[in-house]
Amino acid sequence: MSEKFVYEQECTGGGCDKPTTHYLCGDCTTSLAKTMSDIPRLIEVLKLISTNIEKAFTQKAARGGGGGKAGSKPPMNLNAYQLALNLNMALAYTPHQYATHQDGAWSKQYIESQAKAAKLLVDGEPEVTRTEWETRLKLQGVQPMPARHLIPWFKEKLGVTIHAGTLRQWVFLKKIQKIETGGHPAYDPVEVLKEYERSKR
Ligand SMILES: [Zn+2]
Repeated sequence: MSEKFVYEQECTGGGCDKPTTHYLCGDCTTSLAKTMSDIPRLIEVLKLISTNIEKAFTQKAARGGGGGKAGSKPPMNLNAYQLALNLNMALAYTPHQYATHQDGAWSKQYIESQAKAAKLLVDGEPEVTRTEWETRLKLQGVQPMPARHLIPWFKEKLGVTIHAGTLRQWVFLKKIQKIETGGHPAYDPVEVLKEYERSKR
């Protein structure tokens, strides 16, 4: 105990309380490093998207990029441009420097949110996280669906393949609830998504 002069504290990363001598624990630093390693690639594509040389992955994702209104010529995807700037600034420090800085947890969260938004433009929808999808589904008030609608819906909207057998197994194991709607059992997409994500871990 006395050999250690470094003050041990809990990781300040969101939802993480692992012991660490820095502001971010080893796991959170590694996760930040992983996010940051993808940034140079994202910046390159964002630059192309911002100048319209490259199209954003989906028009839906590119929405809010500016350029559509009168007087806003030349058309430039300002969303992509801003993300490229933000991500470029994020590279000013190393993951270790963030970990040892008191604002490390905030920086990590910020960099991850910017990288996530960039990935959406560059790679498209499947990179959207479970939490984001849950929020969106809840906001949209998506109704329970029978398996024959739910399965193609998941494929189309989320790029996620769920097999009918897997769905039945989840019901059998009481991991998701079967909602009876006039003879057709239906499933809550949010519940199914949660179980899907749990099963991948
Ligand atoms: Zn941590």
